[in-house]
Amino acid sequence: MSTYKIAVIAGDGIGPEVLQEGIKVLDKISELDGSLKLEYTYFPWGCEYYTKHGVMMDEDGIEKLKDFDAIFLGAVGFPGVPDHISLWDLLLKIRKSFDQYINIRPIKLIKGAPCPLKDVKREDIDMLFIRENSEGEYAGAGDWLFKGKENEVVLQTGVFSRKGTERVIRYAFETARKEGKSLTSISKGNALNYSMVFWDQVFEEVAKEYPDVKTASYLVDAAAMLMITDPKRFEVVVTSNLFGDILTDLGAALAGGIGLAAGANVNPERTFPSMFEPIHGSAPDIAGKGLANPLATIWSASQLLDFLGYEQYGKLVLNAVEELLVEGKVLTPDMKGTSSTSEVGDRVASIVSSLV
Ligand code: ATP
Ligand code: MG
Repeated sequence: MSTYKIAVIAGDGIGPEVLQEGIKVLDKISELDGSLKLEYTYFPWGCEYYTKHGVMMDEDGIEKLKDFDAIFLGAVGFPGVPDHISLWDLLLKIRKSFDQYINIRPIKLIKGAPCPLKDVKREDIDMLFIRENSEGEYAGAGDWLFKGKENEVVLQTGVFSRKGTERVIRYAFETARKEGKSLTSISKGNALNYSMVFWDQVFEEVAKEYPDVKTASYLVDAAAMLMITDPKRFEVVVTSNLFGDILTDLGAALAGGIGLAAGANVNPERTFPSMFEPIHGSAPDIAGKGLANPLATIWSASQLLDFLGYEQYGKLVLNAVEELLVEGKVLTPDMKGTSSTSEVGDRVASIVSSLV
């Protein structure tokens, strides 16, 4: 019997609704494999907690989370609580404290998923984005110089350390090598004349250690265009924190929409827990109505299973999502269906049983 301890932070808005369905599917897996036990501990942190207690998470929250095998997160953020508080004091705090310096976002057009591009071959949209997740444009470095209307000047600095840049690029090369795929680096050396020149330099240096991996390098603007006009160019992709954030939303739109896109925040050394979440936010406009699409969260549950070493189950869950989309009967309104969040979760769980 293998037991894994999962910390659950359902969060705000649609977070709890979608997370419940992710857990439903995970529970189905452990029901089918009696030797895999997942033990959940729920943490009521988020914006509602902030409103009551003045903090997004407990002071010793990081300490409380540190011995879990993984963290499963819904979404944080709600109107009334400024984004810089909800984001920085929970999500980014966890990412940083646990050195989850890799953000993995699959952009894969699975069978049945809608795609806004016409005449695209499904298999041509199959990218694995590896986004730097600990520094870069999200380092929080900057200043508000010269307050006061006319002379106001604000600085926001990107921080790219040798260690931080090299480790994400190296991780991407290892992934590309393992999967027998090419690796594309996305940067912006022509305009960002320090940080991105440095990024390109480190990429070239590390590339020398991986002569077997085919590489390409694009400016971020060109990459955004090529993701639409020629998506098959991209296999494994490595990019900075901000560019990764933006391009993976574009990628999500290509691969079935924001309701389907998942992301893993990984500490590859496994010194600390990694965190799995849908990439969408708390969507307050549709919260509490059973309208939220749980498939992104279910996909992140599949990533969680991969991470725990159960790739066969990760694949099984993804196959079940694919089958659900191909059936096209039980879908939420964002996918032109009429079913509720929990009906979609139920259907995925039952397809999982039928596929075993
Ligand atoms: P964040 O800043 O946290 O990324 P955001 O402002 O980008 O949040 P989201 O919460 O991600 O916004 O969602 C934008 C819109 O997309 C929502 O208002 C909602 O209408 C839709 N949406 C997001 N997630 C889902 C989902 N799982 N199912 C259905 N619709 C969704
Ligand atoms: Mg967003």
